[in-house]
Amino acid sequence: MPSFHVLIAGGGIGGLCLAQGLRKAGIDCTVFESAPSIGRSGYRLHMNGAGGRALRECLPENLFELYMQTSRTTPRREVLVLLDHLGNELGARPHIGPPNDPVRPHTAVNRRTLRQIMNIGMEEVVRFGRTVTRFEEDGDQVRVHLDDGSSATGDVLVAADGINSVVRRQLLPEVPIVDTGDVGTYSIAPLTDELAATLPDALFDGFAGASGPDGAMLVYGVYQPRRPIAEAVAELAPGAAIDPVDPYIMVNLGIMPGTPFGREAPDLWKASPEERHAVLRRAVRGWHPALAGLVERIDTSTIFPVSVRRLQPADPWPTSRVTLLGDAIHAMPPSFGAGANSALRDAAALARALTASVHGEMPLLTAIAEYEAEMRAEVFPVLRASADPRAFDPDFLPDDLSVPSRN
Ligand SMILES: Cc1cc2nc3c(=O)[nH]c(=O)nc-3n(C[C@H](O)[C@H](O)[C@H](O)COP(=O)(O)OP(=O)(O)OC[C@H]3O[C@@H](n4cnc5c(N)ncnc54)[C@H](O)[C@@H]3O)c2cc1C
Repeated sequence: MPSFHVLIAGGGIGGLCLAQGLRKAGIDCTVFESAPSIGRSGYRLHMNGAGGRALRECLPENLFELYMQTSRTTPRREVLVLLDHLGNELGARPHIGPPNDPVRPHTAVNRRTLRQIMNIGMEEVVRFGRTVTRFEEDGDQVRVHLDDGSSATGDVLVAADGINSVVRRQLLPEVPIVDTGDVGTYSIAPLTDELAATLPDALFDGFAGASGPDGAMLVYGVYQPRRPIAEAVAELAPGAAIDPVDPYIMVNLGIMPGTPFGREAPDLWKASPEERHAVLRRAVRGWHPALAGLVERIDTSTIFPVSVRRLQPADPWPTSRVTLLGDAIHAMPPSFGAGANSALRDAAALARALTASVHGEMPLLTAIAEYEAEMRAEVFPVLRASADPRAFDPDFLPDDLSVPSRN
């Protein structure tokens, strides 16, 4: 195989998956990740058939099995259930993406655990604490510049550096970041048997959301690994640095702008953890006792504020040796739990395209152009649907979304 080197800006969900996929194909790469380590961001990620298939394609067999065994237990129903604030079911929406695995479906992961799994064996590949500042194309090569004054050269540069991507800002400066105005909090409550016994069954489905009459929405997702993490690691990747995680239920608050609740809410970024917890308590005042009780069980130290931003789908751009994946090109609101799944999908598709080119099956720029066109066709509809104000209506499923079953 001719020598070929891929530079990857960003070692998040998509960047690490691409690195694994390239390594499996025998292609050299270097990942530049600005954070000093995998870090602590440990919220739950819903997984669908697109993300799960990509992991199967990119990871070695033992790491794919580790992902599967550390995924959430199979829920009663693989749907998003929508409730009112009294716990009455209003409707259920199927998850999007290609068909899920019928035997052991892709369910949900702890984000930090998935990143730790994808980092296994990557000591020589991932450079932590290195921030990409800009790039330049020079004939058949691309050079990235890093914040420590050094630079690196490769055949291709992949922007996997998230919504604020510096690579995208240089390549496609016209693509705007849209602030939706939606804000909220993410948090975790330890899931004990005693707490589980109090909760409505719907909270144990794939995902659940409950809306109050004044503009507050709570979204719930259980994480309970199929097998204790330490046990799975000991068998499948002995010695790997993967932290144990106790079962939890993720409780996210969404505050719609312009609603009565939104108008009363304080600035969540200036609020202390206790004040944020008080906002959550206010959100569920008068709600079903179990839903209000769950908010009491949230670990205050895990509450962090979020603002929902997204990208505008870009018009097709001229293909070059600099390409993009994941949030760097299609950051989307979390309405369909599809951002990480789409980043993984891109990583697998790009690894496939680059492998075909390295094997002489097609010229490099043709392979990248095909990857980009397919990504726009498959993922931009998901971005548009996620950004639609009707995204949480039980009946809202646009025709251009891939949905295994609409029944
Ligand atoms: C609270 C929350 C819940 C979510 N839930 C879901 C869900 O249930 N399902 C789902 O599919 N999606 C979900 N998402 C979305 C999902 O997390 C993102 O879509 C996904 O992480 C995108 O992956 P990525 O690799 O493109 O970007 P990221 O994972 O954001 O990774 C980008 C990486 O690039 C690094 N970086 C940034 N700039 C530079 C630079 N200049 N140089 C070097 N490195 C750089 C960053 O440190 C980061 O590690 C959720 C998001 C949030 C915030």
